[in-house]
Amino acid sequence: MASLFKIPLTQLDKIGSKKAEQFSKLGIGSIGALLRFYPRTYEDWSRPCKIAEAPRCENVCIRGTVESAKPPARIRGNMTIFRVTVTDGDSRMTVTFFNQKYTYDRIKSGGDFIFYGMLKASAHDYEMASPQVEEPSMAAIRPIYQQTAELSSRQIEKAVRQAVAMLPEKTNDPIPQHIREEFGLCDLGFAIKNIHFPSDHNACELARKRLVFEELFVLQLGVGLRSSDRLNVTPQNITADYTKEFLSLLPYKPTNAQQRVIGQCITDMKSTCRPMNRLIQGDVGSGKTAVAAAICHTAAKNGLQCAFMVPTEILAEQHFQSLSGLFAGTGLNIALLTGSTKQAAKKQILSGLKSGSIDIVIGTHALISDNVEFSRLGLVITDEQHRFGVAQRAALNSKGRYPHIIVMSATPIPRTLALMIFGDLDLSVIDEMPPGRKPTDTYLIDSEKRSRLYGFIRKHITNGNQCYIVCPLVEQNDSELVSAEEYAERLDKTVLSDCRIGILHGRMKPAEKDRIMSAFAAGEIDILVSTTVIEVGVNVPNATIMVIENAERFGLSQLHQLRGRVGRGSDKAYCIMVSDASSQATLERLKVMCSTNNGFTIADEDLRLRGPGDFFGTRQHGLPELRTAKLTDMVSVEAAREAAQKLLANDPELSQREHAPLKFEVARLFNNTGGA
Ligand code: ADP
Ligand code: MG
Repeated sequence: MASLFKIPLTQLDKIGSKKAEQFSKLGIGSIGALLRFYPRTYEDWSRPCKIAEAPRCENVCIRGTVESAKPPARIRGNMTIFRVTVTDGDSRMTVTFFNQKYTYDRIKSGGDFIFYGMLKASAHDYEMASPQVEEPSMAAIRPIYQQTAELSSRQIEKAVRQAVAMLPEKTNDPIPQHIREEFGLCDLGFAIKNIHFPSDHNACELARKRLVFEELFVLQLGVGLRSSDRLNVTPQNITADYTKEFLSLLPYKPTNAQQRVIGQCITDMKSTCRPMNRLIQGDVGSGKTAVAAAICHTAAKNGLQCAFMVPTEILAEQHFQSLSGLFAGTGLNIALLTGSTKQAAKKQILSGLKSGSIDIVIGTHALISDNVEFSRLGLVITDEQHRFGVAQRAALNSKGRYPHIIVMSATPIPRTLALMIFGDLDLSVIDEMPPGRKPTDTYLIDSEKRSRLYGFIRKHITNGNQCYIVCPLVEQNDSELVSAEEYAERLDKTVLSDCRIGILHGRMKPAEKDRIMSAFAAGEIDILVSTTVIEVGVNVPNATIMVIENAERFGLSQLHQLRGRVGRGSDKAYCIMVSDASSQATLERLKVMCSTNNGFTIADEDLRLRGPGDFFGTRQHGLPELRTAKLTDMVSVEAAREAAQKLLANDPELSQREHAPLKFEVARLFNNTGGA
């Protein structure tokens, strides 16, 4: 397998240098990397169901015969529409296509097809809009890949199909045979073939089980190799505690929990035995930023350079503002570095970091890039850790000589998993909210109540408060969803036309996002219609209403994060989830939100309702290289950890010859920030 990482994609049919360039944007630079680019999910075309029995609100696969087709008619502008009636022998459905003359030509003469899409039922009919259509021979489990604007999942699928054919008969398996036997794992060749093109559900599950194990195993080996490193170093220990001075800068009194956690970190940094490695968990709004600020303050006063990494520019900007404010007059030099920092300013910051004149830098992924060098990096804090990968954090940590490490998380991570991800680490919990917080009242409504909702919003805006409205990301085939732009336009033209409405979405330029966010923070915007870009960290205490449209589209932890954007000040806050979902499971999930504000309870419920598999699948773990969509169970985590420890006990440096493929995988995981 390792040799396939040396073969460029241009070896494949129909892939020239331009296409190869598009693949490289996904971090795929070789045949090997392509094979390791696992599907995000699958579409099950293998088991078509009956029209009358098909579930609602999710994509389904229906096999049927085209009975009648009306030719495309123009409806407006260049848009054409045509409808066909399809029968499965028992029931009929009407299928509508827009702008798809070629599909019409394909299916007008009748015949058998598979239709893959969302089925809606009205009083007398079943309807499907813009499904994908294939011949019955395509009835298989089909891979869906993460796509880009230039590269569709289907194009990736074609390339992968060729790459799979290039796999040697016998692959050099990184997992030693005795471990595979012990844990009942299939070999690498089978796994790669079946993760992309599963012959059936069982094969897919086997492949996934093995790849998950492999990833955890390799990860644990890497973490193990590193932490044994860290045990034998002299830490950059500090001698003085400046917490008291810091507290005099803080405009409020810290909670006991905040003080305790600050104390734990300072004790860690004073230790002469080993560098700090600590996970701080605290529910949304528990005040993690102030804790991070206190630790940076003391570390910097002791001469350590500090890096504070956050996942979005909005959040970086906001932390920078609040820390700059706090530290004005302390003599500490603080800088902000993001992807949109202007060239001239950037040059200055890079030189300041290298010379050591900058004490604290706050930034996004930009902090990881090669040209960022520090003179004496001694503390690395990662906020919202689940947004980063192991490799990304490792890249930042490696810019200093065994710096102290803090990762912060709003989601409780099971202890075993935390050990897997972070190595041997200590845990602090901020288990107390700042005083005066009132729980956010949460309601679930359906779209019929929307006009009342708008009245409610207006009332609060008249009172001087602000409101977020979150719409899910619009993906292809989501014909029922409205984009944030359209939504905002609707509000603006109709019911809430007298309010100041702003839009925020992921495709906007960072500078533009900042402008909108600052305007919202300054109270110049009443209603911010946005995608989930505001999910993490953003802090505008005057915003008191969070509306979440199509709430069924979000996982519990994500809903909790979104709700955490309000209820940050002393005013009573409300979260209103709008959903027309009818599935019992979905309703149960959403109702959990109405019954509690406690993030830990919610995470537990999330785990209970969806099973640990999905929990890991939602990227709460910070393992982006874990490309296998979900983790089957906790047992894998512990098994992989145990197996890795055993192996390292035997071969602490992975220097034995038969472990060469393993060493290759460890290097691949830890050296790549992108995961190629
Ligand atoms: P999170 O833990 O979600 O990162 P933040 O650090 O953003 O939370 O803090 C949320 C809000 O609570 C901020 O407005 C912050 O100023 C405020 N805050 C934090 N600690 C306290 C405290 N001890 N007393 C009062 N307000 C606080
Ligand atoms: Mg935060």
